[in-house]
Amino acid sequence: MKSRSTDSKASSAGLKDISEPPEPDSTALSTDLSADLSADLSADLSAALLNWYDRSGRDFPWRMRGAHSNPYMVWVSEIMLQQTTVKTVIPYFHRFMEKFPDIQALAKASIEDVFLMWQGLGYYTRARKLHECARYLVDNTGGEFPKTYRELLKLPGIGPYTAASISSLAFDLPEAVVDGNVIRVISRLYGIQKSTAVSLPEVKEKAQNLMPKTRAADYTSAIMDLGATVCVPQKPDCGACPFSKSCAALKDGLIDKIPLTEKLQKTGKCGKLFWIENENGDVYIRKRTEKGLLHGLTEFPWSAVEGGRSRLDDISFPINGDWQNFGNVIRHVFTHIDLELHLFKIRLSKDGEAGFLTHKTNDSGIFVPKNKFSDFPFSTLMKKIIKEEAKQQE
Ligand code: SF4
Repeated sequence: MKSRSTDSKASSAGLKDISEPPEPDSTALSTDLSADLSADLSADLSAALLNWYDRSGRDFPWRMRGAHSNPYMVWVSEIMLQQTTVKTVIPYFHRFMEKFPDIQALAKASIEDVFLMWQGLGYYTRARKLHECARYLVDNTGGEFPKTYRELLKLPGIGPYTAASISSLAFDLPEAVVDGNVIRVISRLYGIQKSTAVSLPEVKEKAQNLMPKTRAADYTSAIMDLGATVCVPQKPDCGACPFSKSCAALKDGLIDKIPLTEKLQKTGKCGKLFWIENENGDVYIRKRTEKGLLHGLTEFPWSAVEGGRSRLDDISFPINGDWQNFGNVIRHVFTHIDLELHLFKIRLSKDGEAGFLTHKTNDSGIFVPKNKFSDFPFSTLMKKIIKEEAKQQE
């Protein structure tokens, strides 16, 4: 399930303890949700939400009131916002638009250039899919986005969430978006006490029923804003919520219990990072070819296994020699993995370098001077290592 981050500022500012009864929002709607909402009641709730949005909706560089005139901007921003906070995305969005102002520019770029613009944003598969889809659209439609949800869904890298976002935000079509924030709002509003995996079809149906036939773009922005700034995971600001008089979770004191979240199972891994310098001090880097995590990015060779540091000895060095442990252990958290990397360095003589290049695994790595690192798309993990190594030189 795609999840936008809640806006941390909004999550913590001005929030009331819901153990005290909230001040009702003056435009909040009073309805009884004990029975399924009728179409009329859904329409009233969405009207209340739109009223709230007209007064309290946020402005962003990628947002317009009403349908956006540029689906490309909508698409790029929606992909960037998945799993990433608004605050983090804003500068990335500006830089990306400056470098790739339209879909043709993005399609023409190399994947390395796209990664460079994405550096530090994480979840690099998103960048690869953007690039792939841009090329597909330029080759097949002259860069035009199809204007229906179903056609959008056929594009490479576009799933139900992104297809609904583009449909509603750019083409004003009544297609409900369902991300982590929307799931929380809908589950609380209707009092759905099930795990997300079980409740998803029900949440989707309710979300679609709430979607008005007109002002779809504003409605989508509104429900996203509500989830990000008012109906936040901890201590939602129910007093400011347009649904406060209709909300089942508020009425029944179940806010802390909804939605039921499943704890993500993370795998603990430990590994070795191999910092290999030649006699000039240039460092060996390579493009990660392994499918999945960090695919296509530049890295120093490393290897990891499941388990704690007692398993480190199971990882062999890529070349025999005088390896020195350096720097602090680097910890990095991926969605499903807690990684602990131990750093090792070796300085090769000319012969050692020749031997290494001859016998190394068949990656197409090269030695580069440290002052050229900025030309390569390193992941945040690798940047931590560059920083750690630099610290040792101070
Ligand atoms: S929808 Fe969220 S913010 Fe609104 S009243 Fe219910 S729990 Fe509170």
